[in-house]
Amino acid sequence: MKTNTRIGIDLGGTKVEAILINKNGTEIARERLPTPQGDYRGILNTIVQLVDAMHEKADSQPSIGIGTPGSIGFDGLLHNSNSTCLNGRPFATDISRLLKQEIRIENDANCFTLSESVDGAAAGYKTVFGVILGTGIGGGLVFNSSLHKGHHRIGGEWGHNVLRQDGPQCWCGNFGCVETFISGPALISQWQGGSPPEGALGLYNLAILGNSQATQIIDTFLNNLAIALANVINILDPDVIVIGGGLSNILSIYEIVPGLISQRVFSTHFRTPILQNLHGDSSGVRGAAWLWGLNE
Ligand SMILES: [Zn+2]
Repeated sequence: MKTNTRIGIDLGGTKVEAILINKNGTEIARERLPTPQGDYRGILNTIVQLVDAMHEKADSQPSIGIGTPGSIGFDGLLHNSNSTCLNGRPFATDISRLLKQEIRIENDANCFTLSESVDGAAAGYKTVFGVILGTGIGGGLVFNSSLHKGHHRIGGEWGHNVLRQDGPQCWCGNFGCVETFISGPALISQWQGGSPPEGALGLYNLAILGNSQATQIIDTFLNNLAIALANVINILDPDVIVIGGGLSNILSIYEIVPGLISQRVFSTHFRTPILQNLHGDSSGVRGAAWLWGLNE
């Protein structure tokens, strides 16, 4: 199917967002609706409603891509979605049948990486490692503007590499995953005494103001982040690392982490750019649209 326009859907835990872009990535239309809670049929209908709204603004038959937390397993069912009513459902098959069209679905970290690779901060780089630092820690790999999904569709899932075997238990079942040390909730959980700051960015702001406990938590975060990234860099040696998610606004990442990585990585020099994302909260929905490539 060759088309000039693309619809992207970002299915999140609280909202479903749709975008219509042309082949240059210019936004034509955008709309969002709340995610029906615990209602599988309601979520499917919300997506159909948003796709219909985008169709009205399109001058040709657009392709459709959907980004969502979780992954489609070998069994064709959705797993590990934070909208738990989707888990164990043949979501891709059901939505494709309702829309009467072939669709593509990827997890939100892959959509983020694709979006930043195609026309974001990582545009022009061949090997891109996209990193989500937020409530969870995700990642994606793009080679020559094409998503690398991997044999088990877990390509780039560095958040569940083990950083320390004696670390906290992770929701995935392992102990000491990267995510248990550097996610937003992991940082807040390290706060002792009194009420904790408002989220990881609140913690970062306290550190900027000189609070010693916040400074220590942020310093430990930056060091753990550097170790975890160095482990990936030794395998992948990407041309660029692009960072998204709420914690991407911790600007000391870009100032301090490259120096910490250079002490760890198996090279006498470390020159890989570590960049903040360009599209911010829009990367998920734009990447979903780009699941259909430039020449499709
Ligand atoms: Zn884990």
